[in-house]
Amino acid sequence: MIIVMKNDASEAQIKAVADKLVDLGLKVHRSDGEARTIIGAIGDTSKVDDIVIKYMAGVLNVVRIIEPYKLASRNFHEDSSVVEIGDIRIGAEKVIIIAGPCAVESEDQVTEIAKLIKEAGASILRGGAFKPRSSPYSFQGLGEQGLKLLHAAGKQYELPVVSEILEASHIELMDQYVDIYQVGARNMQNFWLLRELSKIRKPVLLKRGMAATIEELLMAAEYLMSGGNYNVILCERGIRTFENYTRNTMDISAIPVVKKLSHLPIIADPSHGTGIRDHVAPMARAAVAAGADGLMIEVHNNPAAALSDGPQSLLPNQFKMLMEELKIISWAIGRSV
Ligand code: PEP
Ligand code: MN
Repeated sequence: MIIVMKNDASEAQIKAVADKLVDLGLKVHRSDGEARTIIGAIGDTSKVDDIVIKYMAGVLNVVRIIEPYKLASRNFHEDSSVVEIGDIRIGAEKVIIIAGPCAVESEDQVTEIAKLIKEAGASILRGGAFKPRSSPYSFQGLGEQGLKLLHAAGKQYELPVVSEILEASHIELMDQYVDIYQVGARNMQNFWLLRELSKIRKPVLLKRGMAATIEELLMAAEYLMSGGNYNVILCERGIRTFENYTRNTMDISAIPVVKKLSHLPIIADPSHGTGIRDHVAPMARAAVAAGADGLMIEVHNNPAAALSDGPQSLLPNQFKMLMEELKIISWAIGRSV
């Protein structure tokens, strides 16, 4: 970490900054240039709050050399991590397809969708039971009943299941039914929830917040890992921008960026990323081409009647066609689906 002092910084101000860094357990190295003094801080800077240093008197700027995340960083773990769910390996050669309805609505609905995604070649079934909806009047999910139906459909078609967790008190309840806990965009920075999920060992699918930077996503992953849960799968699901023709702006560039910065697997969710059925397949293809380790796709057997996210849910035949296209794209980059 480098602290650049202002031109007119006094000796007392320079000393105060150096003393503060020493108090934090760091070694300091001072370098006096023609115009200004620079202080190099050497050691474990992960506990240093940049803002505190930045606003000390006489400080012009603070520059980090090493990222504030450690366990999630590729600098500390060169090889790509693989998260295993039974014999499914996320982060390995095969691109893992997670598909299913936005929300579990009924036994028939989730069973029929499980069957069709299995036949098309998907590996994991998704389905929300606790839904974080923008309106309190919208369908909020079937709760435990939804988890039971999801679990049963997964069992019938030999598909592990993933469902969103909204609060820490649900960890035990959900443990009976899900193979992966999903932390949604709205809870990416719910640090208390992350801390509780860090105590378990079941995989966590961590979605990027809709207004979160990539660094903030990796810091959220750091919360999970710092408590001991290394089974973290990241997910790019679109961010909010000024653009209104799509529900979110799918940040495909986050995929190669995360791959460089982190060893954790990253998947993409083009359903929430675009919010519009016709745009899901092109963004799914692009995400795989960009190096995503998997996809999460909303599929519905009757989207017109869906209780949530019908407009972005693929029709069964669209999903089948996408799976065929993904075979070719993954082959072109030395992978498979
Ligand atoms: C979902 O996957 O159903 C969901 C609500 O996604 P997000 O948290 O990305 O909005
Ligand atoms: Mn949804």
